[in-house]
Amino acid sequence: MLTRRQALAATALAALFVAPCARAQDRLKVIASFSILGDFMKNVGGDRVEVATLVGPNGNAHVYAPSPSDAKKVADAKLVFVNGLGFEGWLERAGGHDHDHDHGRADPHAWQSVANAKIYVANIRDALVAADPAGKDVYLANAAAYLAKLDALEREVREMIAKIPADRRRVITSHSAFGYFQDAYGVSFTAPQGVSTEAEASAKDVAAIIAQIKKQKAAAVFLENVTDPRLVEQIARETGAKVGGTLYSDALTDDKGDATTYIDLIRHNLRQLASALVS
Ligand code: ZN
Repeated sequence: MLTRRQALAATALAALFVAPCARAQDRLKVIASFSILGDFMKNVGGDRVEVATLVGPNGNAHVYAPSPSDAKKVADAKLVFVNGLGFEGWLERAGGHDHDHDHGRADPHAWQSVANAKIYVANIRDALVAADPAGKDVYLANAAAYLAKLDALEREVREMIAKIPADRRRVITSHSAFGYFQDAYGVSFTAPQGVSTEAEASAKDVAAIIAQIKKQKAAAVFLENVTDPRLVEQIARETGAKVGGTLYSDALTDDKGDATTYIDLIRHNLRQLASALVS
């Protein structure tokens, strides 16, 4: 079993393979396993890359299964980026590994800390430079500009969280997607479901959370954009805790939503937390 620190070191964001050829005048075809990763890749790759995403906006990557057209997309791509740490359950299922569900699993949601997002961006930059050396200057410049925006975002997060009274920084979500946010920014998250949504929450876990909320008066419960809202709604009903809104855990929103980019996703989550927790 990996500790969180070991897991982070392994948050490799592996470039799965490099296919041969692709004519020089073509844009580099790259695949992201999910939408947040796709946004990082667009920021670093700019006009030189064509990013396709397997699990799109509001999609749940934990339970996704590739379609035949996805398999074709992957076959046509020069690079495929995945998160790793068990996030892409379909990769493990394809590889024949058998997991005992959540027990002992690493937490794959490393992007929920902005400092980690910078590691993703650096890894993407290095992989693109290796795959397309002619674009090196472009990738380095794009990455540097985006990393500066992430530095500003990190400061914004810390300033906003500092405005929430320490004893109100306690919330409930449906699955354990915010462990890195918790460790980085000091807001405590509890969830009935584990670090993957492949396994259902047990009645025992739900009862334990209800008891905990009644005792500690968690400030608010939040829905997520990728999971069924009913469990959190039930918890809110049974405890009288207020539903603080919807947090974006594992995916960007579509164009109708307010988080078509990672930076907007983090800002949305901050606004939701602040409006529910700053009384
Ligand atoms: Zn998740």
